[in-house]
Amino acid sequence: MADPIERVLVAVAHPDDAEFGCSGSVAKWVKEGREVIYVILTNGDKGSGDRSMTSERLTKTRVEEQLNAARTLGVERVEFLGYPDGELEDTRETRRAVTAQIRRFRPGLIVTQNPNRTANFYASHRDHRTTGTIVLDCVYPLARDHLSFPELLAQGLEPHKVREIYLMAWENPDVVVDISDTMELKLKALACHTSQMGDFSRVEALVRERGAQLGKPKGYAYAETFTRILIPR
Ligand SMILES: [Zn+2]
Repeated sequence: MADPIERVLVAVAHPDDAEFGCSGSVAKWVKEGREVIYVILTNGDKGSGDRSMTSERLTKTRVEEQLNAARTLGVERVEFLGYPDGELEDTRETRRAVTAQIRRFRPGLIVTQNPNRTANFYASHRDHRTTGTIVLDCVYPLARDHLSFPELLAQGLEPHKVREIYLMAWENPDVVVDISDTMELKLKALACHTSQMGDFSRVEALVRERGAQLGKPKGYAYAETFTRILIPR
């Protein structure tokens, strides 16, 4: 990073996506004194194999789990946009909702999901791809231009220029964040998502294995990796 970025906004589709994809980095940024804010686009109300579970109950549970995870990591704030899980669409409404969050919190760095389908089947969930698409369009040009969504301007949400974007990525990353010191916090935050974890020792083994694999080329015990988009001034 050219100069210090003080505020980071993490925009993801579901409660637990940030913990899987970037929470080691989030914990590290918080330790470095940065302010981290989460924006969760859907309510995660489909993520259950329990036939007696209702979407309403699951939404409540997942909000609580996400808040606990955020607290564990030192995330300053979590905004839930509440769109239905599995049905997120790239519409004027969803773009306006995300643009409003960007203008409100004015981050230097935004972390989000990969808008493209990749060979990583689970990372390429439809809501993840849609989130990546929406967020990129909101950074440029929607949050930047005062003539986009004039109704936001009327609410005092002034245009904002984001400086860089990290897309969560495992293939050919150009940013490798050393999370060796924050892996334990990442696991602790992941464990807060009780409704999603089943056998946590299995999840832990997979997360450690993946983190070790990503860190290996750089000689880190564990890493998270991203594709970086630097936005010209
Ligand atoms: Zn997800």
